[in-house]
Amino acid sequence: MEKKIDRGKRFVYEQAQLFRCPLCHTSMKGSAAGLICENQHRFDVSKKGTLFFLTHQVKTDYDHEMFAARRRMIQSGMYQPLLKRLAALVPSAGTLLDVGCGEGSFLDLLLEQTGQQAAIGFDISKEGVYMATEQPQPAFWCVADLTNLPFADKRFDTVLNIFSPSNYREFARILKPAGQLLKVVPGPRYLQELRQAFYPEDVTKQQYSNAPVVTKFTEFYRHFESEEITYQFEIPAERRLDLLEMSPLEWGVKPERKAELKKQPLSKITVDLLLLKGENSAFL
Ligand SMILES: [Zn+2]
Repeated sequence: MEKKIDRGKRFVYEQAQLFRCPLCHTSMKGSAAGLICENQHRFDVSKKGTLFFLTHQVKTDYDHEMFAARRRMIQSGMYQPLLKRLAALVPSAGTLLDVGCGEGSFLDLLLEQTGQQAAIGFDISKEGVYMATEQPQPAFWCVADLTNLPFADKRFDTVLNIFSPSNYREFARILKPAGQLLKVVPGPRYLQELRQAFYPEDVTKQQYSNAPVVTKFTEFYRHFESEEITYQFEIPAERRLDLLEMSPLEWGVKPERKAELKKQPLSKITVDLLLLKGENSAFL
């Protein structure tokens, strides 16, 4: 089997036109070690087959344990209806970028269905990106900054943005004129059983509104489509403890409350999502 580093090098060599230098914004070309820009800034592919585009180290709140719990939940089928819908919207050939890919399961499971030609996932978390390199599908993974994407103008057919922050101007820049942004945000009932179980006395923490995110989205698109995807997921018995660890909801929970929940974990959870689709031609 091809080594991760060789697979990564081959990808960036063949797809160098997708990238641009995050330092000076000139174009990149393939080198023996990775990519090099017109001003000789070099980006070498790591042993894990990734590229690191940040100019400084960033510490994130998502640790290995949370990524691992998320991975097990996503792979248990919790988001299968969402993935099926996304697969229907993503062209079967083309370029795909997953923004804030985390440990890579969403992109990997999507590629299983779509067979994308060139797919890149990036995250600001080095930990997440390293974990993503364990995924079986041949995506390329890198560490990058959302506000200064290391990608060239008008190169991507689809930008995927699942549960992660957005930079709409950067997305519009790198998308082809006929490209699309697919953004997934939680709906008001997303994980509601978990919110109630974590914070039985705190009504404000039990509630969630995506209104500010949706409003922001509408400010950037002349018109757009939106679709609610809502269902109940029966949590496999062996995954019920993972649900407690997979999201930032867990950060403020009292330890004794969590200990109680571990003894009697939830068996069903509501997945309530809003899928927003913006055509780049409608970008304001
Ligand atoms: Zn440069």
